[in-house]
Amino acid sequence: MERVHSQVVQDAVMRKLEERGVKLQAVADIVYEMQRHYYPHLQMDTCLQSVIAVLEKRELQHAILVGIELDVLCEKQLLSEPLQTIIAQDEGLFGCDETLALGSVFGYGSIAVTTFGHLDKQKVGIIRQLDTKAGGKVHTFLDDLVCSIAASASSRIAHKLRDQEEAEAAVRGLHLADLPGEANDTSASGVDEVIPMQVADGTETAAS
Ligand code: MG
Repeated sequence: MERVHSQVVQDAVMRKLEERGVKLQAVADIVYEMQRHYYPHLQMDTCLQSVIAVLEKRELQHAILVGIELDVLCEKQLLSEPLQTIIAQDEGLFGCDETLALGSVFGYGSIAVTTFGHLDKQKVGIIRQLDTKAGGKVHTFLDDLVCSIAASASSRIAHKLRDQEEAEAAVRGLHLADLPGEANDTSASGVDEVIPMQVADGTETAAS
């Protein structure tokens, strides 16, 4: 049997999210809400790019396809009983919707896990809309999947921005160290904290 190409999976994920009314910008709005307290200069575009990046991960893609498929089959009354009724009712003790979605965030570490739990409880933004089950739609799996997309994208931002901050501090540190008398002048770089770091030649410098 022929293998399914990654691009086919990726395209299907984007198409199905669109069909089910999940705009990437709506997920980015949640990510922004989750991370803006930690990064006051956070750009919305950074959040959107992070959402797009996590949607390229196979594990998340597969969870999205499985979950949406079950929601759609349930809407069409194509599942067998008692699963049909359990999913249609979004039975609180079902748990497989959360388990499927949660399983796909582990690659992004503990921030993704805790953010997932927070979003699952607080139902921020579009997650709340999906949870209200308006118009005969079934979103039993989709609301949790949106939690996992947003949680992974949030965690990714937290880690990326830290890397970026450290890289920028390293560059500034090297430049300032090269300039006599300005090595500890934090006002020149606009940075308050002095971060000791190891530079490429093995010496330690007080980078700002
Ligand atoms: Mg659910």
